[in-house]
Amino acid sequence: MVHCPKCAVEIDLDEDEVEEGEIVTCPECDAELEIVQTHPVHLNLISEDEEEEEEAAEDEGEEDDEDDVDADDAEEEEETA
Ligand SMILES: [Zn+2]
Repeated sequence: MVHCPKCAVEIDLDEDEVEEGEIVTCPECDAELEIVQTHPVHLNLISEDEEEEEEAAEDEGEEDDEDDVDADDAEEEEETA
């Protein structure tokens, strides 16, 4: 019998039926728990608060490159090599 590291509820896990690395969910608080050890069973609370979203702010330089305009509208795009 192990206890949820988050809410301390008793979780009925048979150490012979689980494997290391297995993820179980606490029936009480829905926390995701990784089984890091089986004899005896030891649970590791998987943090849900890890937000490692690297949103590179590429909002600089608003260039609307919509070339849907008629080519007749000769724009000043002289690229002299
Ligand atoms: Zn729990």
